Order: sequence, then C-alpha cells, then structure tokens
Amino acid sequence: MIIKPSISVLSSDRVEARIDLDLFCRSYSDAPESLALEGAVAFSPLINSHDHLIGNWFPRAGDKRPYHNSHIWVEDMKSSFSFQERNQFWFNDGSFDLSVPHALVLAQLGCYKSLFGGAATVQDHGPNQAPLYYDSMPISVLKDYRQCHSITMENWWGGESPEAEMQLSAGKIPYIIHLGEGTDNVTRAEFSELTRRKLLQANTLLIHGIAFTEDELRQIAAAKASVCWCPTSNYYLIGETLKVEAALQAGVNVCIGTDSTMSGGINLISEFILAHEKFPALPLSTLYKMASENGAKALMLPPRYGFLQPDRTENMLLMDLVDRDPFRTLLAAEAENIRLLVRDGIPLFGDSQWLEWLDVDMEKYSTFRTGSREKFVIGDPQELNDRIDAVLGYHKDFPYLPF
Ligand SMILES: [Zn+2]
Repeated sequence: MIIKPSISVLSSDRVEARIDLDLFCRSYSDAPESLALEGAVAFSPLINSHDHLIGNWFPRAGDKRPYHNSHIWVEDMKSSFSFQERNQFWFNDGSFDLSVPHALVLAQLGCYKSLFGGAATVQDHGPNQAPLYYDSMPISVLKDYRQCHSITMENWWGGESPEAEMQLSAGKIPYIIHLGEGTDNVTRAEFSELTRRKLLQANTLLIHGIAFTEDELRQIAAAKASVCWCPTSNYYLIGETLKVEAALQAGVNVCIGTDSTMSGGINLISEFILAHEKFPALPLSTLYKMASENGAKALMLPPRYGFLQPDRTENMLLMDLVDRDPFRTLLAAEAENIRLLVRDGIPLFGDSQWLEWLDVDMEKYSTFRTGSREKFVIGDPQELNDRIDAVLGYHKDFPYLPF
C-alpha cells in the first residue's frame, strides 16, 4: 500500500514533501493501492533510550529535592507516597524478578507511556530478565544488553560485577550504566573510576552525565560511547542537567530518554518540550535525531530503526501536521494526533479507520476514544489499569494514558 503524507521526515536532515512511502504491514484487506494523506507527517518511530518500566507510577517521588546525587534519592524515594502506594500492587522482594504477574502488569503499563508518546522502542534499565518478560510487552523492549546500576552503587539490584557485565557484552551489545547523576564529589569522581576500570568502551551507554566536564565529554566522544540525556528527571531531582551543547560539540552520540515517571517526564514529547524551553538554541531536528538515529546507534539497533525507509516502510510514526515545521509538530503532539504507529510491520496504535484496511486479529487489540477520535491499540491498557484499581480499591490515574 502506497501512502503519500504531506511531509516525510526521512532523517533529521532530510525532509521530503509528498513522496511515496511503501507502507509494509503484515496483512491487508480491501486497502486502497495508494492513499494521499493530506495534513500528515511521517517520522521514524521514536526511541526512548532510558526508562525503568516498573517505575512508571505517579506522582513523582522526592520530598528532599534537590539532591546532591541520585544515590540519596534511591534510598529516600522508598518512603515516598508513590513507592508506598505501588507496594500495595507489587512489592519488590529484592529479587528483581519482573516476570511475576503484577510486575509484568506494571512493566506493560510502562510501555504504554512510550507508545502514546510516539515511541515503539524502549530501553528498560534493570537486571536482564527472562525472555518471557520481553516477549510480553506491547512495544519493543531492548532485550540484548548488559548493565550496571551505577559505579557507586554497583549492581545492588542484580546482575554481575561491573567488569563481568562488560565482559558478557563482548562489545557487541550495549553496556548501560547510570553515571554522574549529581553535582557533588561522589558523582564527579564516577567518570574517572569508570575509565580506570576500563568500562568506557564504544558500546557503553552512560545515563545522565550531569557531572561530566567538557574534557570528559571529549573522552566519551573519542571512545565512541553514547550518553543518554534525561532532562526532566535531571531538573526534578538534581536541579541541573547534562552540558548537552558541549556534548554535541564534542561529537558525543547523545540520545534521549524519559527515565521513569517517579522522576522523569510523561513521555518523549514532554522531554522535547522541556529541552526546547531550557535550550532554545538547540535545533528541534537535533532533538528528533536524539530520539531516532542516535538512539538506534546507542542501543546498537540496525540503522533501519533510526531512519524512515520509503521503499519498505515497516517502521513509521504518522502524525497530524500541526505546524508547518515538522519538527515543531513534535512539540505539540498528543496521543490524539498520532494517526498510525507501526513497528516491524505490526500496527501498534492509531486511528481506528485504519482497521478497515489492516487485517489484524482484533483479539490482540482494544479500542478507546480520545478527544474526538476513536483509536485502536495493541493489547488492552485499560484492562491493566483496571487490574491495578481492583487491588487498590479505587481508581488510579496515570497521566500518560490518554483515556
Ligand atoms: Zn535511570
């Protein structure tokens, strides 16, 4: 099926008007051969390069902000209202086995945060889980990675030693670690400890980096490593953020993530909005690049996940063009504006009218209304919310769900 959106963003520096995209979905029925889509813009689906899926509870935690470093918060947040309320639904016994039923519900719900913000891939930072966990998720959750919580707290939540984890990555999959999430001596010392232990490699993905100096950013660029920027979480917890302009100038591969809603934004769109407010000189196309090609590179995904492919468009985020500038459209986007989100030829979310043409098994989808439009979505997020409500005994509102 050929579609012709008003604008197609092939990459952050290549924008085309009215070109043909060969939309490749698994199956069709009665679909027109070609379809002009006036007032629509096609992007590559966004990539959320940092989250903790089970942590997408609400409201944010942090009664003693700003913290000098996030390690203080990790302890402090355990007495927060959010953490205590979540305990009623899923109590973390310390094993971090997230394949148990209630943890799975939370993680699935956490995926919808990304999905309703236009992302079809998310990196879920925590100890590696059983295959069942990744296979149960409504969007793609990065399965091939190794990790460490942080250089200061090491793998308190499970996993091998920092060095053993790097060895297990064999340089072929990302090695993910929180680093420099603060402004004090503890977090400032983390980078040199990382390099001393030979953990700064081309497959290293450093999360946050608030404490990084310009010299350290140059070392990261030279190592061809990546940094994930989480603006909302940084400003909320610490009051400062990564020196993002210096990082880009040094040539660091900077990607972007939400972190969990216990500290971060409600989706990547809200991260774009805050990033633009704090760094108005940063081109909006650069923010998109962080959430597309840079994210694919950091997560070591095939390049097709970072660019829109006109000849075989099996990964696409199709939205209402709400501004003449397609990148400005991203700042105004809401779930209602997403016309269709497809990953690997599987429709994940979109306007229900697509169901006439996409031959999908409706057992695997649900529908709802948002604004004036009827939407379909893979799985049933309302049912997940209901299961939480049934345990709590009242309705729990998650602001990233559009119903
Ligand atoms: Zn994190």
